[in-house]
Amino acid sequence: MQIGVFGGTFDPIHMGHLIVAEAVRVRLKLDKVIFIPAGNPWLKSERNVTDGEHRHAMVKLATDPNPYFEISRMELERPGPSYTVDTMDELKQTFREGDEPYFIVGPDALAAFGRWKDPERLIRMCSIVAVKRPDVDAIDVSSLEREMPWLSGRIKQVDVPLIGISSTGIRDLAAARLSIRYLVPREVAEYITQYQVYQI
Ligand code: ATP
Ligand code: MG
Repeated sequence: MQIGVFGGTFDPIHMGHLIVAEAVRVRLKLDKVIFIPAGNPWLKSERNVTDGEHRHAMVKLATDPNPYFEISRMELERPGPSYTVDTMDELKQTFREGDEPYFIVGPDALAAFGRWKDPERLIRMCSIVAVKRPDVDAIDVSSLEREMPWLSGRIKQVDVPLIGISSTGIRDLAAARLSIRYLVPREVAEYITQYQVYQI
């Protein structure tokens, strides 16, 4: 099977994530996409990330209606910072012969790639699928490949609809008690209201 892997803080999950995951699934004919909410997001230690159980619950609500989407608690349950290479190791143990992982990243995540744990080993374990987003500068993949020659040919760029939605924007709107309708699935908006996830 061809398996998409989509890691993120998902604080909260939004339509941008869902549209990207579905578009990549269709374009690359993936059999499924596994969403993996980060446990302790080491690159974001400057702000308080919402409790993992809330983030997981929202990803579950958002992905349940799509039979091709799954969710994994792996990073939430592993103590310490969530490194993608460790996640890939753990995920591979559940794989069968012939299963191939495709790790989906936006430009912000890809820009930090050189600072990930063991990027050279990670790149041997999965293909990287790079997507664009309109609110973040595009990444020049060839200059990335010049910096890290072992990356060459390992990053697959896939065109997806450009959606200018970010979790940061949604948290700000929710904190100001403004509408987040259409930016997140209805169930997620209701969850945020019910549990006052982003009220300060
Ligand atoms: P935050 O504003 O808190 O950083 P975010 O919207 O960037 O949240 P993350 O959970 O940090 O969401 O992102 C997870 C992954 O999804 C990253 O690889 C990111 O680049 C990608 N991503 C998030 N939003 C979009 C979008 N609108 N279009 C394309 N990719 C996206
Ligand atoms: Mg982000």
